[in-house]
Amino acid sequence: MESTCLTDPTLVLNKNWLPIQVCSVRRAFTMLFKGLARVVEPQGYSLYDFDSWSDLAIPRGESFVQGVSRRIRIPEVIVLHGCDRFNRPRVAFTRRNLFRRDRNCCQYCGKKCSTEVLSIDHVIPRCAGGEGSWTNCVVACLACNARKGGRLVREAGMQLLREPVEPPAQSAFTLHVNRRKASWEHFVSEAYWNTELKP
Ligand SMILES: [Zn+2]
Repeated sequence: MESTCLTDPTLVLNKNWLPIQVCSVRRAFTMLFKGLARVVEPQGYSLYDFDSWSDLAIPRGESFVQGVSRRIRIPEVIVLHGCDRFNRPRVAFTRRNLFRRDRNCCQYCGKKCSTEVLSIDHVIPRCAGGEGSWTNCVVACLACNARKGGRLVREAGMQLLREPVEPPAQSAFTLHVNRRKASWEHFVSEAYWNTELKP
């Protein structure tokens, strides 16, 4: 197969047809081949498994990869079925995403700081069984983190500005919008309208 197209992005929808991630064409082919996903044909939204997709004639101008005996059209949108791990879109719990959620503001004193002088505070300290999670971690300035130490928030006489929550998944999706393909537009705008708004 030609390597150039295999690194192109493919939009991944969950079984409710909501976009949850962008993967490479190579990964999309792997999921198709394993039967974990089907291709959504961008014009008519018909679904194809790996074999029926491979048999499909390639319209003029469409990208394809060259297999051993045939050319296979590039899947631009795939939909997963039944794989629970993927069905609920999640934002990866990473340092970068945590800082992004808290907008680089200390969640105790509210001061906005550069990343270097901020730390991650465990609301319930690790020594008291607190875990590293969206709902137990906040960004804190070094001064507030030192003041709180290994204590609970109220033990330290402090207060959180807001309850830490897992950010909505669509915000993870916006990270990829600069790599959008025309065939994704329908699904991406669906996601926009389906995003829960804060009361
Ligand atoms: Zn602070």
